[in-house]
Amino acid sequence: MVQPHIVKSTCCYCGTGCGVLIHTDGQQVLRVEGDPAHPANLGRLCTKGATLHLTDMRTGRAHYPELRQQRNASRQRVTWDAALDHAAQRFAAIIAEHGPDAVAFYISGQLLTEDYYVFNKLAKGLIGTNNIDTNSRLCMSSTVAGYKATLGADAPPCSYEDLALADCLFIAGANPAYAHPVLFRRIEDAKTARPDMKIIVADPRRTDSAELADLHLPILPGTDVALFHAMLNVLVWEGWIDEAYIAAHTEGFAELKRRIREYTPRFAADICGIKPEQILQAAEWFGRSPRALSLWCMGLNQSARGTDKNAALIHLHLATGKLGKPGCGPFSLTGQPNAMGGREVGGMANLLSGHRDLANPAHRAEVAALWQVSEVPSQPGKTAVEMFEALEAGQIKAVWIACTNPAHSLPDTAQVARALQQAEFVVVQEAYAHTDTTAYADLLLPASSWAEKTGTVTNSERRITRLHAAVPAPGEARHDWQMAVDFARRLEALLPPRAAVPLFPYATPEAVFDEHKRSTAGRDLDISGLSYALLDSQGPQQWPYPTGARTGQARLYADGRFPTTSGRARFVAVDYHPVAEKTDARYPLHLNTGRLRDQWHGMSRTGTVAQLYNQVEEPLLTAHPDDLTQAKLASGDLARVRSRRGELLIRVEASTRQRRGEVFLPMHWSGRFMAGQGSNALTLPKLDPQSRQPELKHAAIKLERA
Ligand code: SF4
Repeated sequence: MVQPHIVKSTCCYCGTGCGVLIHTDGQQVLRVEGDPAHPANLGRLCTKGATLHLTDMRTGRAHYPELRQQRNASRQRVTWDAALDHAAQRFAAIIAEHGPDAVAFYISGQLLTEDYYVFNKLAKGLIGTNNIDTNSRLCMSSTVAGYKATLGADAPPCSYEDLALADCLFIAGANPAYAHPVLFRRIEDAKTARPDMKIIVADPRRTDSAELADLHLPILPGTDVALFHAMLNVLVWEGWIDEAYIAAHTEGFAELKRRIREYTPRFAADICGIKPEQILQAAEWFGRSPRALSLWCMGLNQSARGTDKNAALIHLHLATGKLGKPGCGPFSLTGQPNAMGGREVGGMANLLSGHRDLANPAHRAEVAALWQVSEVPSQPGKTAVEMFEALEAGQIKAVWIACTNPAHSLPDTAQVARALQQAEFVVVQEAYAHTDTTAYADLLLPASSWAEKTGTVTNSERRITRLHAAVPAPGEARHDWQMAVDFARRLEALLPPRAAVPLFPYATPEAVFDEHKRSTAGRDLDISGLSYALLDSQGPQQWPYPTGARTGQARLYADGRFPTTSGRARFVAVDYHPVAEKTDARYPLHLNTGRLRDQWHGMSRTGTVAQLYNQVEEPLLTAHPDDLTQAKLASGDLARVRSRRGELLIRVEASTRQRRGEVFLPMHWSGRFMAGQGSNALTLPKLDPQSRQPELKHAAIKLERA
């Protein structure tokens, strides 16, 4: 019997990355508390994090590998050897017949960095395909593209401590009160301590975050670029830009200045559905405040123009020189706990290890040399939505899905269902036995989960935290990195050799981390100076942390030099485009999807905690009272919601926090909880041309009495 003791880890939900202290007897999680020594949360936890010990970690879990030999048969329990031998043989046979691009991996921002690293090497190094993408594509890929287009690298330049230092906080397309609650507590503290601090929230809904704001801009869905351009127009007109900074550290401003000339406050106000005075006020507070910080999340990213929206917001900081200083800068809030770590190891279809780019031949050669493989293929891989389209089309025959639930979370779930039915072989590596996606698994591999794993994650402020396992995984569940390694070694024996050395020599996650950190040497995120021992002894650290460093870096670009060819940041002359799917007479309402405060993603974990239903007990669609009346509905009625792709049944509630013509639907409830389907039965797979992120935030719908 192990005496009760405390193990350090992080919360497994949002990208705030709060440190938790797990009280355990070695078999069960007894309780959790916020880690007062963790810089992300300083001991605080939100309702989700504080109830982690109440989540059901045994029932509903996948305990054993299960395999079915035929599609119509049910899966049967098999040994690990039988499961992985079968998987390796099926993948090898498909690769031999159709080539490496006939297989794919769809992984997750919930994975630890070590898990991500092994999967990426398995696909790109061993098999020779770039068909590996992740649910981070649905989350942060427009931020990645926006940062790279303007600042030259995928690196959030700020720190959480900037929340308390800003004079003006501009929150656009984010509801941190619900999506990043512990950060919102810091914002509330800052506002209490300095009531003169101005908070501006741009959001179609009057959210709880907007309630705290000095100025709420209830813009029409998708009109963010017009708003940001108009604010820049005012900044230029009023002389609130920093011409010396623009001249010394940027390029492309003259062209952007021409582009924004027509975006006067009056012109943009008509597009955005707000008053010109509101734009003038927002620009004044942003421009005249010595320190301005912007926060954003899915409201900008989950859009067919997400990259443009990111760039247009970052422009405001470049034009005023408000970045690289305390309390200043563009600061993306990461949705998932480790989307950052996944980007660092290059675990996406267009990225390579250490923030390298697949499209760059020199970067491919560097990674091939690091891994000692003959080459890294140049053919771009399929991104999330494209991967499932290729599955349906028969171009991809086998898919390995790890730690994510695409049958619920991708847009147009009817298409995803067709794709998974069409696939020849579906492997699902998952902690929970009964997700929307496990129903399609030919092979189900049980995975360990929160409190059972060891490794590292990176949060929104570039801070890497080491996680320790507190309890054993149930049944025969294995760690994600371990399954990938065990499969890769079997496959390595069946495929023609591509490497001069065994590619997967790891016995521990620390061995994986050490290889990953070596791959970052000399890169913008250089963490060659970090180790598990240092993270244990000195606590979580921000990157970069190169060899010889004594501390991480709180802010980037303080010297005005940027990781672009010229060393200058770039203004990009983007234009405003409306939402991908316009409303019309048949589908007259704007659908806005988003989070609840107390649920997480598809509710596999939070859905097991009774008190997390206190805030919202059941699936509800929120609409303006006039829109309900027009549809002959009243609060509490059951409604049928239709889009051009699908429909669902849901109870409605009236709220004047919604603008007329717009409804809000939480993303969490899936067909497992609701009659019919979840929110993504309605959404459309329209992609941003650069980031390939789909427009999950918006669709045109109609509302009818059920
Ligand atoms: Fe977990 Fe995010 Fe809440 Fe922190 S803010 S406790 S990381 S859900």
